[in-house]
Amino acid sequence: MSEPQALPSLDDIDVDNRRVFCRVDFNVPLDGGQVADDTRIRAALPTLRELISRGARVVCASHLGRPKGKVVPELSMEPVAARLAELLEVEVRLPDEVVGDGVTKVVNDLPAGGVVLLENLRFEAGETKNDPDFAAALGALGDAYVNDAFGACHRAHASVVGITEHIRDRAQGRLVEAETRALGRLLHGPDRPFVALVGGAKVSDKLGVLLALIDSLQAGDAVVVGGAMANSFLAARGHSLGKSLVERERFADCRRLEKSARARDVSLLLPSDLRAGESLDASEATVVPVETEGTPFPADAMALDIGPQSTRRFAAAINRAGTVFWNGPMGVFENPAFAEGTLGIAKAMAEAKGFRVVGGGDSVAAVNQAGVAEAIDHVSTGGGASLTYVEAGGRLPGLDALLDPA
Ligand code: ADP
Ligand code: MG
Repeated sequence: MSEPQALPSLDDIDVDNRRVFCRVDFNVPLDGGQVADDTRIRAALPTLRELISRGARVVCASHLGRPKGKVVPELSMEPVAARLAELLEVEVRLPDEVVGDGVTKVVNDLPAGGVVLLENLRFEAGETKNDPDFAAALGALGDAYVNDAFGACHRAHASVVGITEHIRDRAQGRLVEAETRALGRLLHGPDRPFVALVGGAKVSDKLGVLLALIDSLQAGDAVVVGGAMANSFLAARGHSLGKSLVERERFADCRRLEKSARARDVSLLLPSDLRAGESLDASEATVVPVETEGTPFPADAMALDIGPQSTRRFAAAINRAGTVFWNGPMGVFENPAFAEGTLGIAKAMAEAKGFRVVGGGDSVAAVNQAGVAEAIDHVSTGGGASLTYVEAGGRLPGLDALLDPA
């Protein structure tokens, strides 16, 4: 795959005493009107601190939840502004609108090193519609534009795409830079063998990523499948799985993926044993081998995690990899009875020597739960954006918009 054009960085733009519109991802969980988890706010701090120290007049903007184009007071940025002010140790001005005369005044009066946070971008219907007038109104608030919202880069929204038509000096922020550098290494000349470890809830959610990954793999690389996704692959091979979640309408896709892996001499590893239980919230797990003649899968049970033998096999593949990309838990890790497979894989990731990347909301939660995030080369903040990035070969609407039109 050819290397995409390099994205401009903060080093490439002049920010001193200029209004810098900074799209951030402050879409944080709230609880009782407070920020329940400030990870995403912290992730933007390196960029914001750098802008402040370089004398920029910083105009931050983010969406929060899904107000669907209307003002929803519970989704005001107020608690976010308060937390941001604490973390940055500077005053954060919060106008009561996204755009409008009042906002323009606050922004234009901002001193060098000052910070404004606009109200929730999705209070305006124009945001998700990439409406040209709304994009122009946002664009009028900045002399330079910085995108540090990797989690929003896969969306062609006004603050991510439309706005860039109105601001000539554009750059990726430090968070987006770290994401594109790490994820880019998966796509361009990765150390071999490349091991793609995929799991999670559904084949349908991950079909695009799987197809793109297999397409980029070569002889000696491996695709390892776990989680509920593996059920469909196993069932498509003819194994019975009791009451496990399987996607019958994806069997043909599973067979097609197996075939293209085989054609490339890429091994496709599936679980050889499973942890089964009565239901998603069962408190007891039974280890069962994958059904063969003579060892039937219990008819009234569900496969809810991979078994110890599968964990060892998968860990061995991770261990010998030059590069590993992991997306999707190996089981229902939210339930401690079915967390062992996922936690075992997280541990194997932490101990492996190759270049290791984890992407996907639940996968990142699992790595944090296992306490190994620090030991892994890159844990993406991007949720769905990191998958779309891999699937699309590194092209996302929000990244393309930073480049000059061809
Ligand atoms: P990510 O957010 O990392 O991309 P997904 O959203 O695809 O991951 O999948 C995570 C979900 O998959 C978890 O909530 C987990 O409980 C569920 N899951 C994993 N394995 C199974 C299984 N065997 N049966 C049912 N659900 C599963
Ligand atoms: Mg998920």
